[in-house]
Amino acid sequence: MEPGTGAGLNTAVERYYDITLDLYEDLWGEHVHHGFWDPGEIPGVNGADRHAATDRLVRELVAFTGVPPRSAVLDVGCGIGGPALHLAGAMGCTVEGVTLSARQAARAGEKAQAAGLAGRARFHQLDALATGFPDASFDVVWALESLMHLSDRPAFFAEALRLLRPGGVLAVATWAVRDGELAADERDLVRQILQHQVMPHFSSLEEHERLARAAGFADVATVDWSKAVANSWDPSFAQIARYDKGRAEMRRLARERGVDVLGFFHAGPLMTKGFETGVITYGALRAVKPGPAAGASPAADADTLVRPVAELLRQVTGEDAAWLEAVTPASRLDGDLLVESQELAAWSAALRARYGERVDLAGHVAELGIDAVIELTVGDVAALVAARRDRTDDPEGDGGAASAEHG
Ligand code: SAH
Repeated sequence: MEPGTGAGLNTAVERYYDITLDLYEDLWGEHVHHGFWDPGEIPGVNGADRHAATDRLVRELVAFTGVPPRSAVLDVGCGIGGPALHLAGAMGCTVEGVTLSARQAARAGEKAQAAGLAGRARFHQLDALATGFPDASFDVVWALESLMHLSDRPAFFAEALRLLRPGGVLAVATWAVRDGELAADERDLVRQILQHQVMPHFSSLEEHERLARAAGFADVATVDWSKAVANSWDPSFAQIARYDKGRAEMRRLARERGVDVLGFFHAGPLMTKGFETGVITYGALRAVKPGPAAGASPAADADTLVRPVAELLRQVTGEDAAWLEAVTPASRLDGDLLVESQELAAWSAALRARYGERVDLAGHVAELGIDAVIELTVGDVAALVAARRDRTDDPEGDGGAASAEHG
């Protein structure tokens, strides 16, 4: 019954989230993770309800790790996209979400579409350790309650470092285990949780800190949120009882979907015991990829790019200096600036010539739905340049922009 490692583990995780998708969504909504409460708050009584608490956990992780607005984010283990849509919506980030479950990826895509965010949030069925994204593709690697499912944790930290650009941030929140040796009964509790939740083993928050440093991260910090999240397994929060309609119903579900669906029902009491005894812990980690950009956040970088990016657009549209003065990060290409498609193509060519081949605005726009195209702003284009450029800005050089000048 041990989920094992490698391909066998991935198949088991994929299956688990495929067959529990509707159960989790029905009970917990779009957030497949713990909630966050202040001391003394009791879910459903005097404290934040389940949905507010899960939203809060996302905001706490953003705040602790310092995710900058408008970042390019890789969401490792995206579930059905609840956290990703917060990052893409309220924070204006561009998110690539990966999950092992094809059904989760499809559901997350539907939700992004429904929220009008399909242009900023895309979801893929991919193994987080083999995504194929190029080096330095992201400002942020975000892993909310997925690290426990990965057996090769050193490889996770190495891959996150590879995918981040210098100055980029790693943001992790994860189930964990108390540091040090466990007694026999504690090991037995841990073994049952792992088995039911399709996780290979737990590691401690201290271990994650060591792994991040060993991989080459700087500014590594962790925080223990065990007390803040433990309420999540309170029956009124977990709501699993609503499904626990007796043996016959459990048998029916297990017959229909396979016995591993039952792991979902077993988690509540086991996790409650885990938190009560202090064997199970929960915490967040932040770490920064060292490099020349240290100090300058990706968002600040994007801000400084708004002007030169708009200037390139002015060149291809033939507008004057007064027009340029009126352009702000919030100016919409479609509604405010009325950029024509051939101008967009010329602008895209100019951006690539100046900032490198990966700044493919035309390709980016081609992947967006109509709603996202309508919403696209000059600030979004600057953020795209900030996330993908491999050349620093060179406003004095011709940078190839002249070739796009036709107005
Ligand atoms: N972060 C989401 C979902 C957490 S559930 C949320 O907070 O709502 C755990 C997620 O991790 C699932 O989507 C699962 O498919 C994903 N996962 C586990 N192992 C993975 C791997 N090796 N590669 C990609 N995703 C993985």
